[in-house]
Amino acid sequence: MIPAAVLLIVLGAQGAVSYWVVAAVLTVGLGAGLVFAIALGGAWERRAERLDAVASALEERRMPSHVLPDDRDPMGRAERRLLGAADKVIDEFESLTEQRDELEAILRSMTEAVVVTGQRGEVILLNGAARKMFALGAEGDYRTTPLIELCRDPRLQDFVEHSMRSTLDGVASAELAIQIPAPLHLGASAIAIRTPRGPAFVFVFHDITRLKSYETLRADFISNLTHELRTPLSALYGYAETLIRGVDDPETVSRFLNIIERQARRLARLLDDLVSLSDLERGLTPLKLEAVAPRRVIEEAVELMQEYGAKRGIHIEVKCPDDIPTLYGDRDRLHQVMLNLIDNAIKYTPREGFVTAEARPMVGWNDAAEMPGIALIVSDTGEGIPAADIPRLTERFYRVDRARSRELGGTGLGLAIVKHIVQLHHGALKIESRLREGTTVSVWIPQAPPAS
Ligand code: ADP
Repeated sequence: MIPAAVLLIVLGAQGAVSYWVVAAVLTVGLGAGLVFAIALGGAWERRAERLDAVASALEERRMPSHVLPDDRDPMGRAERRLLGAADKVIDEFESLTEQRDELEAILRSMTEAVVVTGQRGEVILLNGAARKMFALGAEGDYRTTPLIELCRDPRLQDFVEHSMRSTLDGVASAELAIQIPAPLHLGASAIAIRTPRGPAFVFVFHDITRLKSYETLRADFISNLTHELRTPLSALYGYAETLIRGVDDPETVSRFLNIIERQARRLARLLDDLVSLSDLERGLTPLKLEAVAPRRVIEEAVELMQEYGAKRGIHIEVKCPDDIPTLYGDRDRLHQVMLNLIDNAIKYTPREGFVTAEARPMVGWNDAAEMPGIALIVSDTGEGIPAADIPRLTERFYRVDRARSRELGGTGLGLAIVKHIVQLHHGALKIESRLREGTTVSVWIPQAPPAS
């Protein structure tokens, strides 16, 4: 355009074209050029604005608005490609965010403690259960802190260090008994994962303290049970063998047969108690709850135990107000409770002692505080129980004096059965005792069904 304008001016100067024409053409040309330049400038500005908007959208991790560029020129096509690429990036970003949210939700809901570390053991991520397990603040930012600084227990530190050295191609797992920050049994596992930035490690810690204590309880139970069974069985064997070999003295024969009968009874009692306890523990026989007259419960039990008491020289008394309200319970199970308690009271009270079976209205205690109910109380003037033993009496096979309990025909399961029945009734159990003065066992049962 400029050479044409110069040519026009030269022609004008030589007089070939009139100045007016030159001026007019130049003015029109300049005007058109100006209009074109303004239009072009506007288009560039809009493009710049669109590019700016795409950049802002990317910065804010959102989809850019789709004002479709004119892609007839290379700039427009580049703009269109940029928009497409931005869409893809945001799509990927959104799906990554979704995956991260899902992962976080999973980690949050896990009861296991999960810690992900980088290759030097620095924490990248840890869930709420891990914070709780290692007594860390709920809000603290522990990223980049070495895991072994978060858990101060040497066994756990050893496990972390050892797994980071040796797990690159597999899974390490171990059971750890830690003391810091609290005594716990942990099932720990570590797995290495490859990331573009090098290996990372996922540590999972599972609190198996309860499981371990169940295992110990079960092992103790089996060992106690074996012991309980072995004693009467070896007596049965021994005396039966002697009788088979032949005993001349009829008095000795009768004594041996008596022992055999006593031991067989003991075994039968033990089996009965075991079945009762296991039924109660497994909830096999649900309670038949109904309104029960407390007087009947204690009188029926006392009646059954009267003969046994008399044989051992024990006076048994029943105390119960006439206007006592009914309680809400399972008649047979409560009968079993009273039999066990009266049996104990008679067993552990010397001759000429007294046993009282009493029922009286009483508000509950502990969880049942202030609730109206009935207390079934058995007290005796017997040998009493050392204070240190009282909290353990309801454990299976726990006895203050094992040999004496056996000699008296005890199975060591009576109070465990009582405790279970009381628990099923949402009731409470209290054992109070003074050595050489006597023992009082109180069972509290609510008067009405528990509000559900
Ligand atoms: P056992 O069959 O041995 O009596 P229990 O579970 O009924 O088993 O009782 C556990 C232990 O509690 C008894 O071995 C005994 O040492 C103690 N005990 C229970 N009741 C009394 C009581 N009234 N007086 C003294 N000791 C008792």
